[in-house]
Amino acid sequence: MSQYWSPAVKALTPYIPGEQPRERIIKLNTNENPYPPAPGVGQALRDYATDHLRLYPDPTSAALRAKLAETYGVENQQVFVGNGSDEVLALAFQAFFCHGAPLDAPSITYSFYPVYANLYNVELRTHPLNAQWEVDLESLGAASARSGVIFANPNAPTGHAHSLEDIETLLKRVTDRVVLVDEAYVDFGAESAIGLIDRYPNLLVTGTFSKSRSLAGLRLGYAIGSVELIDGLHRVKDSFNSYPVDSLASLVGIAALDDKAHFNASRERVVTTRERTRQRLEALGFEVLPSKANFVLAQHPEHAGAQLFAGLRERGVLVRHFNTQELNNFLRITIGTDDEMDSLIEALEAICG
Ligand SMILES: *Cc1c(COP(=O)(O)O)cnc(C)c1O
Repeated sequence: MSQYWSPAVKALTPYIPGEQPRERIIKLNTNENPYPPAPGVGQALRDYATDHLRLYPDPTSAALRAKLAETYGVENQQVFVGNGSDEVLALAFQAFFCHGAPLDAPSITYSFYPVYANLYNVELRTHPLNAQWEVDLESLGAASARSGVIFANPNAPTGHAHSLEDIETLLKRVTDRVVLVDEAYVDFGAESAIGLIDRYPNLLVTGTFSKSRSLAGLRLGYAIGSVELIDGLHRVKDSFNSYPVDSLASLVGIAALDDKAHFNASRERVVTTRERTRQRLEALGFEVLPSKANFVLAQHPEHAGAQLFAGLRERGVLVRHFNTQELNNFLRITIGTDDEMDSLIEALEAICG
């Protein structure tokens, strides 16, 4: 604690990202994609350095937003982009969730939501998952006098995804405030709610280039929603940082969106490896929650999560272990390449056998 910190800064509990190890290790702890980004990305980078790097970027990111609009079949003015979807989420908290009423969220979900709630002084009203570890949309929609609803679909770190029908049922109940659906993992097998934005002006869908497009290091995220919601985000963004998306990120993002074949092949590989990994974990006695994301959440009836995490770390495999009461026994395992998952299974055999 420093005397120079404001009381609000003293009271913060910052988000703790998964470890980014420097040594050689099989890294299955922060849901990155094991495959390289689209080949066009490299060419775009080389062409770019020569004549563009000295200039400020377009503050409206028009070209990138137009490409996202084309990709998702929406209008340019229905797209917002930011420096990672974490930043887009932070701006959404400021733009939509500061109404002096609670924000409804699942009790187990992306751990950045409580951090932003704390930073922006928004009370979080959490709703337990159901017995199948699924987000309870009924409970989220039932509360009243709220400042909004936020959840991830697929949810993290459980991997379960709701159908569009379920989400539409929620949208029919919550019409007065923003419903934010965080689709960071949607490309690994879930249905996107983007098709609903024209019918529900309070629906905001966020997405990221970090997972399915293999660009976590670039920091690029977006939000898609009605023009009035996107305008709200722009108001906050233009009161904070006019250039959150650098011109290099825009260029690389466009190159990635252009290569649909690469995108589809890469996510299909991840999905195939996920199912193979799930079967092999189950053969070792693990309970594996059904996942539509690029990770699985798994627990073993005889081996504690912390012990498995430490045993894997010793054997050069890094997964994610959450030190909370409900998740203490679980490991969240990112889906890597088949070879990486073979090493994971071998290490688990050695630990459990
Ligand atoms: C990874 C993740 C994000 C953040 O993505 P970035 O674009 O890398 O900031 C947002 N939401 C969820 C649920 C995530 O898992």
